[in-house]
Amino acid sequence: MTCKNLCVRLIPCGGKIQNPYQQGLRYCRRCEVYLKCSNIHCPCCGLHLRFTPVDPLAKEKLRLFLKGE
Ligand SMILES: [Zn+2]
Ligand SMILES: [Zn+2]
Repeated sequence: MTCKNLCVRLIPCGGKIQNPYQQGLRYCRRCEVYLKCSNIHCPCCGLHLRFTPVDPLAKEKLRLFLKGE
C-alpha cells in the first residue's frame, strides 16, 4: 500500500511539533508524518507506526517523561 494522503487530516499543528512522542503522536515512515491516532498501523498506508524515537537519548528522555520524572 502507498500513501493515500489520508494522513494529511491527522497531522496536528501543520506538522511542526516539538517532542511529538511525548504528546502521544506516532510516526509513519512511509507517509513521513507524525499522526495523531491510537492505531498500531497507519490508517493511511497500513505501515506499522513508530511510537518511540529512533535516537536512544530521545528514547530515554521519553521513558523518563512517561514515568513522570
Ligand atoms: Zn499517508
Ligand atoms: Zn502511512
